[in-house]
Amino acid sequence: MVDALDCVAISGLIVAVFVYYNRVKLADWLLEDDEDITVASSGCRVLVDVFHDNNKDYLVVFGSQTGTAEEYAKKFSKELKTKFGLNVMCVDIDNYDFDTLNQLPTGTFVSFFISTYGEGDFPDTAVGLDTFLSSADPESLNKLKFTIFGLGNSTYEFFNGASKRALKGLVDAGATHIGKFGMADDGFGTTDEDYLSWKDEILDILKAEGDFKVTNSKWKPSFILQKLNELNDKVSLGEPSLQYLPSSKLPTTSEGIQTGPFDLSYPYVAPIVKTQELFSLGNERNCVHVEIDVSKSNLKYSTGDHLGIWPSNPLEEVDKFLTAFNLESGNQVFKLKANDHTLKLPFPIVPTTIRSAVQHYLEITGPISRDLFTQLIQFAPNLDIKNTIDKLSKDKELFAKEITSKYFNLADALLELSNGKPWTKVPWEFLCESIPKLQPRYYSISSSAISEKQTIHITAIVEKSFNPINSKPILGVTTNLLHNIEVEQNNSQDNLITHYDLDGPRGLYSNYKLPVYVRKSTFRLPTNPSTPVIMIGPGTGVAPFRGFIRERVAMLKNEPNIKFGKQLLFYGSRNEDDYLYKNEWPKYSESLGNTFEMIVCHSRLPGSKKVYVQDKLNENRQEVLKLLDAGAFIYICGDAKHMARDVNKVLTDILQSKGMNEEEATNVLKTFRTSGRYQEDVW
Ligand code: FAD
Repeated sequence: MVDALDCVAISGLIVAVFVYYNRVKLADWLLEDDEDITVASSGCRVLVDVFHDNNKDYLVVFGSQTGTAEEYAKKFSKELKTKFGLNVMCVDIDNYDFDTLNQLPTGTFVSFFISTYGEGDFPDTAVGLDTFLSSADPESLNKLKFTIFGLGNSTYEFFNGASKRALKGLVDAGATHIGKFGMADDGFGTTDEDYLSWKDEILDILKAEGDFKVTNSKWKPSFILQKLNELNDKVSLGEPSLQYLPSSKLPTTSEGIQTGPFDLSYPYVAPIVKTQELFSLGNERNCVHVEIDVSKSNLKYSTGDHLGIWPSNPLEEVDKFLTAFNLESGNQVFKLKANDHTLKLPFPIVPTTIRSAVQHYLEITGPISRDLFTQLIQFAPNLDIKNTIDKLSKDKELFAKEITSKYFNLADALLELSNGKPWTKVPWEFLCESIPKLQPRYYSISSSAISEKQTIHITAIVEKSFNPINSKPILGVTTNLLHNIEVEQNNSQDNLITHYDLDGPRGLYSNYKLPVYVRKSTFRLPTNPSTPVIMIGPGTGVAPFRGFIRERVAMLKNEPNIKFGKQLLFYGSRNEDDYLYKNEWPKYSESLGNTFEMIVCHSRLPGSKKVYVQDKLNENRQEVLKLLDAGAFIYICGDAKHMARDVNKVLTDILQSKGMNEEEATNVLKTFRTSGRYQEDVW
């Protein structure tokens, strides 16, 4: 029997555990009441109560892994607001319980935006919805009318797997699906166009079903902008989270170790202790090896995990953006206050300065969405430009020809249209709300948690190409930042095309530091070391396999009698010049003996036929079959669009040579996948 005293003790324990695990969030929450640091959040998890309390009449729910589903959910909410004058509540699945979903007022529509992650999984933040729907009673959502838009990538096996499962779960629980099931395909780079065609149709259906009147009101800000005069130590200059403001205290142990849990919203600002250019092929291709020290934190990783790195934007692009919107030097301090408690602020910290927000919080360099052009019509500098962007926003082909194919980012496109004159009528609040937020980029960790416990290695190819029309460089944000760090740190000779503020906000990143966190993956070596492994990783796809092999070398050092199964690595590069870690592999072979074998091919050797990893796999089919018969695990890492598919096809062919038909071979690989014998880390 549990008596009253036990209850008090147990409650105390629960509170203590809750406080411990949520200490960072609690720190944020405690700061919420501070006049100058505004974090809008109702705190209440009862969906229907928040909906009522805020007089809402439409619900949009998103489950987002990298911010894309969130971005589209917010766009859709804004459109419902301006087009039909609805009072939309747009929420993150993670923040609410769903057992009151069926109690929303009759006639309320709910729109779901759900992205798929990994092997058809729900985003980490949306697992609660998956659990809720999989155990929902058949008629438990019989009053609910919903639309659903999934965000996925058809190069992955379980394309839009999470949204498909959500759709089934909702229908099985008696909810009514309105309109067609929208599916965005990032594999073909058509997410934006997929959304636009789904949205146009769904808005017409909703108008009829909900009897909504078209109000087409002008854009109204969701946040009240307040300009401030003082730049004090509570003002963010681009710090990645509140903990790094000078007015906050970093959570540390008595030994000075910075404590987590580190995640997307609270990264660890880690020293980059070593960088090395693995190859540099003229101005065209570079690859950098980066070593990150986590010894002054309690950040842990496992071999096969991913490292998330938060970039900042290059200075040239920040200046161009400020010019394009007449934001002058961007030194104005501002804060935003949400119009209602259901809205999340667009930046991790306000107050901040305009320049800091552009440099650290907004995604300003990527391609532009046609939808954003539609919204910009109302702020065009003159009638001519208004007509031009109206035409561009309505014509998918014209937009592709005039904007997308020229690799314009937003500032490039607008300055081109206005002949270099600034767009003075675009409100800053509009930009805060409408431009996607800068997201971390992920890298497969190329070190081993056994041999490098406190150092994380990554291997990144620098994203740099040139527009064939005007030779303008097209650059990736994070990889060029890493390249800049490498050049500075090693005093390398390189004509850098773009430059960054490597010192970061208030010098937080000085002496080469960047905000990082570890994202757990399921890419793992078999627990039994004698199980054979087949690894296929061309280019930077070899990154986790370097980690795997280093792990095995370290294991052998610790336990000399350990018996490994065969470790067969298929690696491919263009030629000898971009052969990654070429000097390391022979050393690993020396330690592991004939249990480790590397089969290498090149696709651009002068005078030779192009050979890819899948060709080598095919060539070595007898060996592959022998290993599969012995229970081998298959690992594939790298390009999702072509390589992973081609490898899958060759493996299907190889299995067919055992007398299976295509369907049987496909099913065998599917079973391998579900049992963890076929693992992919592809992007
Ligand atoms: P971004 O800024 O994200 O740009 C992406 C691309 O768009 C670039 O090619 C860029 O040149 C182009 N671009 C920029 N501006 C425009 C424009 N206006 N119009 C059109 N195109 C434009 N990569 C590795 O090198 N090594 C790894 O080990 C690795 N592991 C990964 C693991 C996972 C799980 C995932 C999801 C990805 C992984 N990646 C890896 C890819 C990596 O996350 C990044 O996507 C990649 O490094 C590019 O990041 P970036 O910020 O430099 O480029």
